[in-house]
Amino acid sequence: MPSARLLVLFGSQTGTAQDVSERLGREARRRQLSCRVEALDSYPVVNLINEPLVIFVCATTGQGDPPDNMKNFWRFIFRRSLPSTALCQMDFAVLGLGDSSYAKFNFVAKKLHRRLLQLGGSALLPMCLGDDQHELGWPSKFTLQFLKDTPSSGPEELCAAGTDPQGPPSELQPFLAPMVSNQRVTGPSHFQDVRLIEFDISGSGISFAAGDLVLIQPENTASHVQQFCQVLGLDPEQHFTLQPREPGVACPTRLPQPCSVRRLVSQYLDIASVPRRSFFELLACLSPHELEREKLREFGSALGQEELCEYCTRPRRTALEVLCDFPHTAAAVPPDYLLDLLPLIRPRAFSIASSLRAHPSRLQILVAVVQYQTRLREPRRGLCSSWLASLDPAQGPVRVPLWVRSGGLTFPKTPDVPVIMVGPGTGVAPFRAAIQERVAQGETGNVLFFGCRRRDQDFYWEAEWEQLQARGCLTLVTAFSREQEQKVYVQHRLRALGPLVWELLDGRGAHFYLAGNAKYMPADVCDTLLSIFREEGGLSGPDAAAYLAQLQRTLRFQTETWA
Ligand code: NAP
Repeated sequence: MPSARLLVLFGSQTGTAQDVSERLGREARRRQLSCRVEALDSYPVVNLINEPLVIFVCATTGQGDPPDNMKNFWRFIFRRSLPSTALCQMDFAVLGLGDSSYAKFNFVAKKLHRRLLQLGGSALLPMCLGDDQHELGWPSKFTLQFLKDTPSSGPEELCAAGTDPQGPPSELQPFLAPMVSNQRVTGPSHFQDVRLIEFDISGSGISFAAGDLVLIQPENTASHVQQFCQVLGLDPEQHFTLQPREPGVACPTRLPQPCSVRRLVSQYLDIASVPRRSFFELLACLSPHELEREKLREFGSALGQEELCEYCTRPRRTALEVLCDFPHTAAAVPPDYLLDLLPLIRPRAFSIASSLRAHPSRLQILVAVVQYQTRLREPRRGLCSSWLASLDPAQGPVRVPLWVRSGGLTFPKTPDVPVIMVGPGTGVAPFRAAIQERVAQGETGNVLFFGCRRRDQDFYWEAEWEQLQARGCLTLVTAFSREQEQKVYVQHRLRALGPLVWELLDGRGAHFYLAGNAKYMPADVCDTLLSIFREEGGLSGPDAAAYLAQLQRTLRFQTETWA
C-alpha cells in the first residue's frame, strides 16, 4: 500500500521540466509512493498549506522570468500577506532546470527555494540546480531518425571542412589543419614518447601570439569505433538525422546533419572516457538482462560507489570496456539514448610552441603521448595524444580539427623588459614560442631554465637554444635530473642563480613565467623564489610572500600548469 503522499509541481516553458517531473512521478510510484504531478498553475495553490511533501521542478526563461504555466503561482507565493508559518507543515525540494551560459542561471529555482524557507517550509535537500551545459545534457532530448538511403554526396564532409567566413575558426567551426610533420623528439630508448607536431594554418584566418593555446578535437581510434558498433549492434555506414523531442531544443551544432553512425561514434561520443555513476544508472534502466541489470543497478546506487570505484574509476576502465563487460545490455541500448549515455568528446588544449614570426603559416605543438598501466592488462592511453601520435602525414594527407584561444600567459609589450622562464619537460613549449617571438622583435633579455632527465634523451630544441645563445639572444640554464646520483631540478639552478634572479626582478622589472607539470614543481619553484626574496632581497618571510603576491597581481608572475 502507498505509504506517503508526494506532490510534484512543475513550471515548464519548453516541456523539459514537465518531462523531468513525470519521470520523478514514475520513479516515486515505482517506490510505492503515492504521487501526483501537476503544472503549478493547474494546482489549487491554497491547498499547499496541507501538503506534507512537495518537489518543485522549475525552469527559468532566458530573462530570468518564471515559465508561463507558473506565473499565477509566482504572484501568489510572493504575496506579502502570507504569514511566515504558512508552509511550516511542508517538506520540500526544489529542482531547477537551467543553463549556466545564461546570466540568470536557475534564477526562479533559487528565488523559490528562499521564499519557501521564508514561509516556514523545511528543505529536504539543498537546492538542486540542473545545468543544460552539463556534458550529459537532459535525458532523451533527441531521437535518431535513420535514413533509408545513404546520402550520395558528402554533406558531412562539407560541414566540417570549410572555414568560417564570419570569423576565425572556433569550436563550432574548427579549421581542418593539414599536419605537416609528426616527429618523435625523445631518444628511441626513452620511456616517454614526445612529439613535435607541425600544422599548416595557411588560409585559416588563425592568428596567435606567444602564450596562446591551440584546441584540438580528437577522434576515437578506428578499432574502438568498430568494437563499439559491434557490441551495440550498430551499422557504422547508416545515416541518421537528429530530431529534438521538444520544440525549441537546438541540436548540438557540431554534429552534421545527416550524419553517419561511424562519424557520430568516432568524432563525437567519448567512448574512451571513464564513465560516471549516471552511466550505470541509465544502463540499468535499459538492460533487458537480469544479472547484468542487477550489477549495473548496484554500480548506480549510493551503496555501490566503493565497488564502482574499484571496478571502473581506479583502474580507469573506459565506457567501451564496460559495455563489452555487459554485452546483453549493450546490444539493447536504443540509439536514441547514445547522446544521453555518453558525453561528447571534449577538445584538448596545448600550449603553442612556435611563433608566426619564426614559422609563418605554421603552428607547432609539443605533445607527450600519455600512456600508463593500471591493473588492467591493456595500457591506458590518452585519447588526444595517442590519436595525434598515430597520424602519419608521410602516409597521405592528414587533417586535424583545431582552433586557437588566447592563453594564460602574456608576455611584456613594453620593449626591453627581461623575462625569466622556468619550463621543465614539455613545460618549455610556450617559452619556445615566446623566445622566437621576442628574438624576432630584437628582445634579448631571455633567461630560460629548462629541466629534463638526460641531455641525450629528452633535451628538446637543444640545437636551437645553442644557436640563440651564440647570438647573445638567450641565457639557457639546464638541469639534467638523472645524470648524477642526486636529483638536480630547475629550482636548484634557480636558487644557485639567486642574485641574478633578484637583480632581474627587482632591479630591472623582469617578468617571471612558470609552465609544466602541476604536481610538485610549481610549489617547489615558488618556495625557491620566496627563499631568493628573503636571502638576496633581505625581505622578511611575510614581506617575501607579499612581494610574490604583488608580482602575481601585476601579472609579472604567471603560470601555466597541467596535470
Ligand atoms: P617530465 O619528463 O615528467 O619532467 C621533466 C623534468 O622535471 C625531469 O627532469 C623531472 O625529473 C623533473 N622534475 C620532476 N619533479 C620535479 C619537481 N618537483 N620540480 C622540478 N622538476 C621536477 O616532463 P613532463 O613534460 O612534465 O612530462 C611529460 C609526460 O610524461 C607527462 O605526460 C607526464 O604525465 C609523463 N610522465 C610519466 C611518467 C611515468 O612514469 N609514466 C613519469 C613522469 C612523467 P625526474 O623525472 O628525474 O624526477
